[in-house]
Amino acid sequence: MPNPRLRYRLYLILALIAVPLGLGVVLARVPSDARLAGRLLFVAIAMGVGGGLGGALINQLDKSHRELRERHRFSEALIDNMASITVVLDAACNVVRFNRAAEHTSGRSEAQVIGQAYWSLMIAEEDLAEVQAVFARLTAGETPIQHETHWVTASGGKRLIRWTRTVVTDERGKVRYFIANGIDVTEQKSDEAELRLAASVFRNTSEAVVVTDAQARILSVNPAFTELTGYTAPEVLGRNPRQIKSGRHDRKFYQDMWTSLLGTGEWRGEIWNRRKDGETFLAWQTISGVRDDTGAIFRFVSVFSDITELHVKDEQLRHQAYHDALTGLPNRLLLQDRLAQGLEAAKRHGTAVGVLFIDLDRFKVVNDSLGHDVGDMLLVEVARRIHSSLRRSDTVARLGGDEFVVVLHDVSSSSEVAEVVEKLIAQIVKPMVLQDHPVQVGASVGIALFPQDGSDVTSLMKGADAAMYQAKTAGRSGFRFFDASMNHQAVERLRLEMDLRQALERGELRLYYQPKVDIRTRRMQGAEALIRWHSPTRGIVMPGQFIPVAEETGLIVTIGDWVISEACRQLAQWRDAGKPLVPVAVNVSARQFIDPRLAEKIAAAMDSHGLSAGRLEIELTESAVMTDPELAVGQLRRLQDLGVTVHVDDFGTGYSSLSYLKRLPLDSIKVDRTFVQGLDRDPDNAAIVRAIIGLGKAIGMPVVAEGVENGDEEARLFEEGCATAQGYHYTEPLPPEAFEVWLDSGTACS
Ligand code: C2E
Ligand code: MG
Ligand code: MG
Repeated sequence: MPNPRLRYRLYLILALIAVPLGLGVVLARVPSDARLAGRLLFVAIAMGVGGGLGGALINQLDKSHRELRERHRFSEALIDNMASITVVLDAACNVVRFNRAAEHTSGRSEAQVIGQAYWSLMIAEEDLAEVQAVFARLTAGETPIQHETHWVTASGGKRLIRWTRTVVTDERGKVRYFIANGIDVTEQKSDEAELRLAASVFRNTSEAVVVTDAQARILSVNPAFTELTGYTAPEVLGRNPRQIKSGRHDRKFYQDMWTSLLGTGEWRGEIWNRRKDGETFLAWQTISGVRDDTGAIFRFVSVFSDITELHVKDEQLRHQAYHDALTGLPNRLLLQDRLAQGLEAAKRHGTAVGVLFIDLDRFKVVNDSLGHDVGDMLLVEVARRIHSSLRRSDTVARLGGDEFVVVLHDVSSSSEVAEVVEKLIAQIVKPMVLQDHPVQVGASVGIALFPQDGSDVTSLMKGADAAMYQAKTAGRSGFRFFDASMNHQAVERLRLEMDLRQALERGELRLYYQPKVDIRTRRMQGAEALIRWHSPTRGIVMPGQFIPVAEETGLIVTIGDWVISEACRQLAQWRDAGKPLVPVAVNVSARQFIDPRLAEKIAAAMDSHGLSAGRLEIELTESAVMTDPELAVGQLRRLQDLGVTVHVDDFGTGYSSLSYLKRLPLDSIKVDRTFVQGLDRDPDNAAIVRAIIGLGKAIGMPVVAEGVENGDEEARLFEEGCATAQGYHYTEPLPPEAFEVWLDSGTACS
């Protein structure tokens, strides 16, 4: 009874009943008159007591009502404020209570669902059967029952609810209410699924995972960790990850790692670790701190994978980029880098640096004749020899082909450099045997010095290169120091090469002829064809100036072909003009000699001009023959079969092996003109020439002396038993028209 006005009305009614009631009782019992006053007083008292009693009764009633109401309100509030969903159904399963959590989860208000059949509401179709079964069990007296079903929310979403259902019965056991308490476990379930997923990743990932506590004690490791490190979980749990430390990093490395970990909560990088079997491996590792609710790190998760192989490949690639694949020496890139560093250091310390440019002599011949395998072996051997004759601090690089560069750091004088270079050359020229072939090469070395010849990498390399060309032109293994004029020469050489290509196309080459004379009869025995370049800009260029360039560039093959065919053409022309012919010898360079088609080419040239055997001869330098004596045998035989006579030119300048010479089908030896010069006055030369003539006789080979310039030399040669001579003493090489005079007369004039 909440209304106070209603309460007073009740009091009044009770008083109105009690007053007449008391009055009646009193009037019946009390005598009139004298007792009237007393009776009236009594009546009044009775009325008061009656009213008071009624009021007290009413008050009591009111209090219990209030308490009941409060309790009801309290439980209502309790139900509404409960975090869990509460749904109360009556015995017919109609909704009678639907708390706020239920409203919130379902998206429906209590007003919407009150009185509705529970079946028609919210239950996901797939759960309907289960829910009905649960209600059947509840009805049968089983309580409480826990299970999970889905609710379909007002917006069509689905929530998974974990229910505890109870049944409320009356005294006779009849179902009065069904109470359902539920918790929305949708998120929890997905969290659990995520945790399961994480655990599965942890187990199955190919990367090693280590979890430690904040004190870096290992709490768990995954199977990949065991596979990678060889340690099983029991062997590492509770221990510090330093168990797999490689010892390759210094203290600072680990200090930096911890600084980063504690600062940013993360560290990542490459780290060398050690397996149980002692082998070290490179890992790419990420360590992250996991923070608790207060923000403090309470776990470290370290994930790493083995990148040793990648690292090795990487190193290989880097090595390949900076090294020559064949010899393993630094390549041009690394050389430039080292030289630049060396120059910086030299500038700081005021020291000198030597740059040596080394080019092998006759390498191309070996490579072309014996094959690239042998060529490669030769380069490797030369690289080894150069390397072993230098200090560790010096740099040897291969630029490609047969070009090597050496950087001598911290040198004191040019004579010290010269000494090193002499030692180097001596090593390189030592004979070697490659695949059973005796092989010998020479080396031409150009030297540029820092600071006098240049202050940067480019100018020093250029200078050494130019000096090397000078050394090469001088012939034989030797070295040259750079001087300023060489730059000019290097440029000139390039121009010469370009012009020479054009000379061929424009027909600027000529053959001159120089007689070979029988000293006793003075009759012409034969002639040598010598090339000249009639250049419109340079005038007559001598072979010494352009044949080396032609040999280096390979142009010599084309030039050589032209020489052979031109000599044949000329011979045929003289023959057709009715001139008395002598055999004409053409010079064949080493590069041409190794051409397996040489004999074929000569045969074709002779054929096309209808020349018979014996008309054309060839001259081969001693070194061309000796580069590969084995190959020379076959080649010479083919020439011999063609009826082509072969003379060994410049004899005495090379590295001839007498035993080989004897085995070769050669027809004569031409003593180099350096030995003939001053023969009459120079006892050394006289001795050499005498020895060569003696050798010729011993192996049955005629000896021709070239470069005979005067009668004294001629006389001396004759004395020594030399029968044939060639030289300015008789005539210089002549253009064809002038030479025809010789053909016509057949004898030397003087
Ligand atoms: P070589 O085959 O030894 O030729 C002899 C060289 O000595 C020639 O020089 C010739 O002119 C020179 N000479 C001859 N008599 C005397 C003399 O009394 N005193 C002096 N000081 N020199 C004399 P040239 O014509 O300048 O040729 C030089 C070299 O060039 C030749 O030496 C030969 O190796 C090469 N050569 C010339 N023509 C050809 C050619 O057509 N093909 C090839 N591959 N090389 C050639
Ligand atoms: Mg010659
Ligand atoms: Mg010669």
